[in-house]
Amino acid sequence: MGELGTWLRAQLDAVETETRNLLAEAQRVSLTLKEPRLLGREIPGWHSWRDVEQVCVDRLAELAVMRRVVDEHDPTDPCDAHDASLRTVPCDTVLLVALAFARRPGYQERWRLP
Ligand SMILES: [Zn+2]
Repeated sequence: MGELGTWLRAQLDAVETETRNLLAEAQRVSLTLKEPRLLGREIPGWHSWRDVEQVCVDRLAELAVMRRVVDEHDPTDPCDAHDASLRTVPCDTVLLVALAFARRPGYQERWRLP
């Protein structure tokens, strides 16, 4: 998979770090909000942090699945996909994983599925 595999692993690492940082912040805020001196106070958005925690946990699970797909295709690709010129190309499954990170720098339009 070469370049795509390297780029995908970098995106997975970066997004996992971002997600873990946000999860830690959500957990920190949730703990702070449980302090007795805050009980009964009106704190806008207090209930959102539990949702943020859950979204982060779900995202980490999705990233683990994506990483497993990449691991199963790189360095050896069992799908053995080729283009019309018989050059090895990433299979559609890997291209779909990459599509999840298309907004990030380095994504190449040639990886986009038609
Ligand atoms: Zn495949």
